[in-house]
Amino acid sequence: MNCGTRELDLAIIGGGASGFFTALQYAEMTSGKRVAIFEKGAEVLQKVRISGGGRCNVTHACFDPRELSNHYPRGARELLAAFHRWQPSDTVDWFQRHGVRLKVEADGRMFPDTDSSETIIRCFLDGARALGVPIHRKHALTSIVPRDGGGFLLGFGHLTERVGTRSLCIATGSLKDSPLLQSLRELGQSIEPLVPSLFAFNVNDPRIDGLAGVSHPRVAVRREASSRWQHGPLLITHRGFSGPAILRLSAWDAREMADAGHHFPFVIDWLPELDASALAERFAEIRRNQGAKLVRNTPLPPLSRRLWERIVACAGIDDQAVWGQLPKRESRCLMDALKQARFEATGKTTNKDEFVTCGGIERKTIDFRRMASRATPGLYFVGEAVDMDGITGGFNFQAAWTTAHIAATALAEG
Ligand SMILES: Cc1cc2nc3c(=O)[nH]c(=O)nc-3n(C[C@H](O)[C@H](O)[C@H](O)COP(=O)(O)OP(=O)(O)OC[C@H]3O[C@@H](n4cnc5c(N)ncnc54)[C@H](O)[C@@H]3O)c2cc1C
Repeated sequence: MNCGTRELDLAIIGGGASGFFTALQYAEMTSGKRVAIFEKGAEVLQKVRISGGGRCNVTHACFDPRELSNHYPRGARELLAAFHRWQPSDTVDWFQRHGVRLKVEADGRMFPDTDSSETIIRCFLDGARALGVPIHRKHALTSIVPRDGGGFLLGFGHLTERVGTRSLCIATGSLKDSPLLQSLRELGQSIEPLVPSLFAFNVNDPRIDGLAGVSHPRVAVRREASSRWQHGPLLITHRGFSGPAILRLSAWDAREMADAGHHFPFVIDWLPELDASALAERFAEIRRNQGAKLVRNTPLPPLSRRLWERIVACAGIDDQAVWGQLPKRESRCLMDALKQARFEATGKTTNKDEFVTCGGIERKTIDFRRMASRATPGLYFVGEAVDMDGITGGFNFQAAWTTAHIAATALAEG
């Protein structure tokens, strides 16, 4: 192995979003310091490349730290303080200063104006080159040994040479199946169990058979065992349900769902804008004004005709039933089918656009003012390796930029 130098001021483990951002910020804030990135893969920034469908959803146009922190099922409290130091407006400015303009979409997501993640990759690689930060690919860190005089000795699997470093920043992303888990535990870090977040639900149910591709603009959805609803659009897929409302629920209840082996009952409210009495009033109004119409032919907006027909049929309402003669009991069944449709998830499908890991280095073992280990001096953590994660929309990268900035600042201040 030829690392350029065998003794470093800072070794950054992981050539992903948080590793590069830490390296660039640290190198910009210091001069003459020896910093290097070690990446286990043959390529760096692989997740950035595929992120946001190849467009990289860099951050979210949410500039109030408190509101921003509400998008994180895990880490909201710690990130609230962190966002006061580095938030999306700082991200936008930083990229602007480095030649990348970000644009905002109608839903608040921010992308490079080229609509290509390659723009971000180029920015980081050019930055590393300009600042003289070496990148060592195919270097998977496997052992961390604290040295008597301070700092660490790093081992990289079968590579024989060791690297000494004063400080060490773990930017490895998800620690699932990581060979580092044991070393980190020995350094006094506890690890929250690692489970997936941001996934679609597999559902086998006649109510959605053949409806793949049908979407609905706004539902409320919750696990049956919980009273916490999530709202948003919903999409019926070949395997079950997806869309923002489902992904949000998968993030907020990631741990409970994992505990249940991703088999759990959940409830959909197809018309969350109407409470039960408003819906009863709507039914009464239709009976008065359109009593001769077939129930199956009069979808309640915004339900699509196909979805409505299926809900009506599965509620046991006859094809020829008209509103004016709909028995009370059937009317009640239809209301239940609309307001509290119960489904059973039988597994999960990872969302193709974005998924993250819930769990990681326990937050209470990290001083978030510096992103430093409370147990081991000189050890820092940034990005998804930490037990924090957000919902979709650019929030996960923002947590990576924020924690990287805080770590780089602390490391530069030395
Ligand atoms: C398909 C997909 C799309 C996504 N799209 C978005 C999006 O548009 N917006 C958003 O905000 N979030 C998105 N995310 C989430 C986002 O990519 C992550 O939250 C983010 O990449 C975390 O950055 P990180 O640097 O902490 O980890 P990573 O990006 O995972 O980088 C960690 C790096 O460390 C390396 N590594 C791991 N272990 C070792 C080791 N032992 N030694 C050396 N190197 C090691 C890995 O190979 C990797 O290169 C997406 C995720 C996925 C999977």
